[in-house]
Amino acid sequence: MDMDPTKYRRLREAMVKNQIAARGITDENVLAAMRKVPRHLFVSEALQDQAYADHPLPIGEQQTISQPYIVALMTQALQLDKNSRVLEIGTGSGYQAAVLAQIAFRVYTIETIRSLHMNARMLFDRLKYNNIVTRYADGTKGWAEESPFDAIMVTAGAPDIPAPLVAQLDVGGRMIVPAGQMYSQTLVKLVRDEQGIHQSDLGGCRFVKLVGEHGWGNGE
Ligand code: SAH
Repeated sequence: MDMDPTKYRRLREAMVKNQIAARGITDENVLAAMRKVPRHLFVSEALQDQAYADHPLPIGEQQTISQPYIVALMTQALQLDKNSRVLEIGTGSGYQAAVLAQIAFRVYTIETIRSLHMNARMLFDRLKYNNIVTRYADGTKGWAEESPFDAIMVTAGAPDIPAPLVAQLDVGGRMIVPAGQMYSQTLVKLVRDEQGIHQSDLGGCRFVKLVGEHGWGNGE
């Protein structure tokens, strides 16, 4: 079976042109990655025809795959190159990790919902994305054994910037995290240099909540 028919390749080209390049994303690596990754395979079959539309989509377990433009914006903000080691919190469908993996050396991605973790793992295998390493755990604690990272991306909304993640960011490293209220956040970018941590805001956004020890907790 053709996993990536012409129909979807055309929709993907149009997505990159009209939603991403047209809104000012200029990093050629990001544009190329998003032209390449078959986003329709990261959603359920019933939603495949909507996969390239300009909005987020449900992926089950009350979670969502981000709007394509947000994926591009957050990826560009990490300033990746082919040597980068990247940590992602919130594997979800696996789409964001797949985009990161086109550009970076290796992607470490953590998911706290078992079924999503398992599905993403199987899809990475099927698509032969061999530079993605997955883990089923509370991502707010980071991945100490593999730290420090050149870049860290959190794809769920946090009440505060999780301290363990900041601690696992290398000197020269970049981190992007939606932080703020439960139903609306600001995309925060952190950069670590010799002097310390520098923070800037990339605008408003709305993500599903980051649970776990350094997130909104686990509801107990
Ligand atoms: N990057 C994903 C977006 C997924 S939505 C994609 O491209 O599809 C956010 C995901 O973060 C959800 O799957 C949710 O279960 C997960 N999540 C929330 N809190 C988490 C935590 N503490 N550790 C790991 N994953 C978490």
